[in-house]
Amino acid sequence: MNLPEGLVRAIPHVRSVCVLTGAGISAESGVPTFRGDDGLWKKFRPEELANVDAFLSNPSVVWEWYAYRRRLISEVHPNDGHRALVRLESLVDDLLVVTQNVDGLHQEAGSTKVVEIHGNIRRNHCHACKREMDVDLLQQAGPPSCPQCGGMVRPSVVWFGEMLPMAAFGTAELAARRCDLFLSVGTSGVVYPAASLPFTAKNSGAYLLEIDPEETQLTRYADGVVRASASVGLTAVVAVFEQQKVRS
Ligand code: NAD
Ligand code: ZN
Repeated sequence: MNLPEGLVRAIPHVRSVCVLTGAGISAESGVPTFRGDDGLWKKFRPEELANVDAFLSNPSVVWEWYAYRRRLISEVHPNDGHRALVRLESLVDDLLVVTQNVDGLHQEAGSTKVVEIHGNIRRNHCHACKREMDVDLLQQAGPPSCPQCGGMVRPSVVWFGEMLPMAAFGTAELAARRCDLFLSVGTSGVVYPAASLPFTAKNSGAYLLEIDPEETQLTRYADGVVRASASVGLTAVVAVFEQQKVRS
């Protein structure tokens, strides 16, 4: 795999890496992306289901969609892309994985420095009183009621139109600002404010690399582009860090 020359030249000087991952890194594990073709639920656009108005007006449809996605996610495993990022953690002084994914696969692979800016589909809380809730998800036909206030229980993910968890996003922004290398992996770059992080990094002087098989909104701003799947692209990039470590 041919990597951008500028990247290979930059790697020996890289101390701090920030990685932004999107649905594309989990695609090879079998989790469909939002823009891809998702058989059963094709008739809905994700934006129509992953929002608070849809939940309030049609709770059982939204709950069922999440039950379907939860089932799917519970059956999949991390892939070589996730695993390459685990190795990268031990090869640089400072690394943060900022993920838009809600599937928990980075942690399952073994990454310890992960910030979930869009929440996690395995968790739930009451929409009304915000209390975290442990429920038997797959058994429920619709959202269960909160035992404390009677409100509807919902998945702890950030829906379109909702605020991001402030502390998590603040941590992500700091990492973007201090990194020397920013990797944007498997994300279409259309969901804000996550999509602002590569620009924060670039404006602070980082080398900006995109790894994605398709052109994205970010492509024209990237310093280097790897047109490959996350597993192939990340394995190749991390191999350069590994060679570097052996040499030094
Ligand atoms: P997106 O669906 O908008 O874009 C996916 C990107 O991945 C595209 O650019 C596509 O070309 C690329 N891609 C496809 N296959 C790939 C592969 N094998 N390797 C690398 N890249 C590949 O996803 P997004 O930018 O993450 O934004 C959508 C939102 O959807 C996010 O906020 C996220 O929370 C949510 N989402 C999460 C999951 C998950 O947790 N796994 C799945 C779907 C959507
Ligand atoms: Zn409640």
